[in-house]
Amino acid sequence: MSSEPGAIQPLIILLSQENIDIGGLSENRHESNAVIAALLAGERLAPPAPLPPESFTTIEVMAVRPSLVNASRDWSLLHDDFSQRLLRVFQRMQEHGYELALIEGYRSPERQDQLAGMGAHVTNAGAYQSYHQYGLAADCAFIRNGKLVISEKDPWAMRGYELYGKEAEAMGLTWGGRWTLMDFGHVELRNKRIR
Ligand SMILES: [Zn+2]
Repeated sequence: MSSEPGAIQPLIILLSQENIDIGGLSENRHESNAVIAALLAGERLAPPAPLPPESFTTIEVMAVRPSLVNASRDWSLLHDDFSQRLLRVFQRMQEHGYELALIEGYRSPERQDQLAGMGAHVTNAGAYQSYHQYGLAADCAFIRNGKLVISEKDPWAMRGYELYGKEAEAMGLTWGGRWTLMDFGHVELRNKRIR
């Protein structure tokens, strides 16, 4: 079977400009797709209970992501295929001893523009240029002792991000940790058949 993504749709090209993906396609792509399909056909996973709003306004969180307060964390606004893959990543991470939390899922085009206006360190994607607008991307962070940990300076969190990236890629997701503008908590589902 040959299904090389030779004819990439223009929209995908536009979306891919958010960041440069330096990860290559796996040679075992078809094999891993079959494994993922079998996993997804199994038990449906339910999202974890939402964190209280004050988790997103701690000094530590406000220092790195001040705009999180208004972010959507509604799992039902994420594409079902994507959320089921992500929940399996959550499950695997729990087995590694890391509790994950969704910190931002669906993002309206208005909010995307607002974030882009804050500068390239926040995002270099404008409205409709991010998978967040299609319910196909999520930003996640760790919970340690009941507190949200969003840090690249914390060795425990960095070890977690590495595992998270591996598990996300095993579920066919694209991980922002490989981008030039590294975004360790970001994962997205690039699938032209979905849109
Ligand atoms: Zn993101």
